[in-house]
Order: sequence, then structure tokens, then C-alpha cells
Amino acid sequence: MKTIGPKLVLATHNRGKLKEIADLVARFGIEVVGAEEAGLPEPEETGVTFIDNAELKARQAADLSGLPALADDSGLCVEALNGDPGVRSARWAEDADGNRDFLRAMEKVEAALQLLGPDVSRDAHFTCALSLAWPDGRIETFEGKVHGQLVWPPRGDNGFGYDPVFVANGQDITFGEMAPATKHDMSHRADAFRQLLAWLEAQQ
Ligand code: IMP
Repeated sequence: MKTIGPKLVLATHNRGKLKEIADLVARFGIEVVGAEEAGLPEPEETGVTFIDNAELKARQAADLSGLPALADDSGLCVEALNGDPGVRSARWAEDADGNRDFLRAMEKVEAALQLLGPDVSRDAHFTCALSLAWPDGRIETFEGKVHGQLVWPPRGDNGFGYDPVFVANGQDITFGEMAPATKHDMSHRADAFRQLLAWLEAQQ
């Protein structure tokens, strides 16, 4: 693959994401190296958009490693809350010591919605920005989405984060109740990856 070469750094310290992405790009004969393995620090996510954060993580990893680097950033956006929690999706789950509890985050979202009254829109979407950066300064970014509705109370133990309160359009179970493979086919991450893979295929 002339656009990437045999090795790609994945700018994440999350082993689950590393495995998922390594499997996706394996068919191009690309070996994926994790951020930890490449000795990269965990960057601060200071951007105000998902694209800003994905690009800053990919750029830093490419500059430090001298290899092409892929990074993603994702979160839940609630239309009636002007897109919150958005890029702060993980932070809404943190307590003062930085420990994460997503039931707390889901309760905060629900409380904020209830303050807006019983007829408030429950429309929401997950977004995933995916950036591929090269050491020579090039960068390509893709953004995937899945639209749906928030439900209360949370349902299902599959998945992670806000999955138990999100029902994608056309479905009647939450991402938390869904088989992981079914979610992975329709998720914001799948949408962004499909765009990246189509772009990679077009470069061959
Ligand atoms: P990050 O992309 O690893 O920074 O993830 C940001 C946060 O967004 C996660 O901690 C989750 O709370 C939330 N999030 C992102 N994708 C999903 C998803 O597929 N389901 C549920 N929550 C998600």
C-alpha cells in the first residue's frame, strides 16, 4: 500500500480499539503498532471539535514516531443540549478524582433534558472523527455518524459509555442491548472506517 507503507501507528492507548483497527487494516498488509508500543505520550484533547482532537492526536503521533498515524475521537451529541456532551463525553462521566462512571454521565444528560420540559426532543447522534496523518504533513480526516433517540432508563449490559440510552433510528433496542457485531455494523465508528477504507482502496 503506497499511501501508508507496511507500518501504521494507532494513536490510542486503548487495546480494544487497537485490535479492532488492526483487524480492519490487516487486509491491506499493514501492521498496526499501538501508541504504548511506539512509546508515545497520551496527548491532551484540547480541541473544540471531534475533528480537531482526532487531527491533533494523529499529527502528534506521526511527528513523534516518523510513521503514518491514525487517531480517532468520538462522543455523544444531544440536539436539545446544543451538541453536549460532545467532545466532553468522557469528562461528563468523571468525578473530582477523575474516576469514570457512565451511569453518572447518562443521569446528567437525562437531568439536563428533563429541565427543558416533557416535550423536549430526544434526538441525538454519535460522531466519530478519524484522521490519518503522515510525517510529511499530509492529513486526511473522515467523520462518521449514527442518528437516533435517547431513552430512559438505561437498558442493556453490552457495549460501553452511553450505549444503554441510545436507540439508533429504525431500531427498537439500545446499543447496550444489541449484539456487538450488529452495533459495529451501524455505528459512527463503522461509518468513519468505511469512508477511510473506500479512500484507501481508491489510492491503490
Ligand atoms: P474517545 O473517542 O475514546 O475519546 O471516547 C469519548 C467518549 O464518547 C467515550 O468515553 C464514550 O463515553 C463516548 N462514546 C464514544 N463512542 C461511543 C459508543 O459507541 N457508545 C457509547 N459511548 C460512546
